[in-house]
Amino acid sequence: MQLTDAYGRAIKSLRISLTNRCSLKCIYCHREGETRDIKNEMSIETIVNIVRASKTFGVNRIKFSGGEPLMRDDFENIIRSLPGLKDISATTNGIYLASRAQSLADSGLSRINISLPSLSPEKYRKVTGGDVSRVLSGIDAAVECLAPVKLNMVLLKGINDTEILKMMDFIRRYEGKVILQLIELMDFQKTAKYKVNINEIEQFLESNASEIKEREMHRRKKYYIDGAEVELVRPIDNSHFCANCNRLRVTSDGRLKPCLLRNDNLVDVNNKEPEEIVELLKLAMDKREPFYKG
Ligand code: SAM
Repeated sequence: MQLTDAYGRAIKSLRISLTNRCSLKCIYCHREGETRDIKNEMSIETIVNIVRASKTFGVNRIKFSGGEPLMRDDFENIIRSLPGLKDISATTNGIYLASRAQSLADSGLSRINISLPSLSPEKYRKVTGGDVSRVLSGIDAAVECLAPVKLNMVLLKGINDTEILKMMDFIRRYEGKVILQLIELMDFQKTAKYKVNINEIEQFLESNASEIKEREMHRRKKYYIDGAEVELVRPIDNSHFCANCNRLRVTSDGRLKPCLLRNDNLVDVNNKEPEEIVELLKLAMDKREPFYKG
């Protein structure tokens, strides 16, 4: 049996936030839709119970996020404690990755996404407050043990929108082990002035690609341009995106979160046993609906 909502959307993956804490201060951060500061982070036991309960519905893919998941010293332990799954991935800012990529891979992490809004040290610092050289070392380490590595570039008008070609050149160096993911900015932090014209970006990709594929998840498009693989994520006003959303979120304090953009339909599963979580997962399905409807 699958976990399916009233709109026929079956859940295939969980996106689990491990912490609200982060080592950077990105000017655009949506904090995975978590608006409160969370002190009581889920225990390993709760995380494992949620994953076990979801697995009974065939959910076999997990992505860890945050905050910054590597802020949790027990991240490797969390991964090692999970039941067998098809895919365990994470999204990170990459700041601590150089020293932990191998231990994460050894623990069972399959692959990783790394946020990289700019290659320019000045721009990177302006956008995140951090040091891009640490991220670049993290990418080099991850390519060795967690490929394919995805670089997440949130597009920001006047900051990095002229850097897409440079970023494509950058990933070409890694000969297929690094994929560029261009992400449409969601305005959570009064950042409307940074919104790019996403149609123009899509047209540019379409007219330059030798091949275009569509992923099942969100019907995201992938473009192949002179050896560079580029994926476009455009969530805003996109009913196709919502209609093909097959993931369920979990907040870092253990609530099922059916939609990034809503906080009025959370279901608390913290410190609950797997049997109880099974029922609460069904309840979350009753509360799940597309944010943008066709
Ligand atoms: N700290 C980790 C990281 O940097 O990947 C995980 C948390 S971060 C919130 C997860 C992803 O959300 C990153 O790929 C980031 O680029 C993306 N993101 C954050 N704020 C966003 C926004 N306002 N619009 C679109 N994507 C955003």
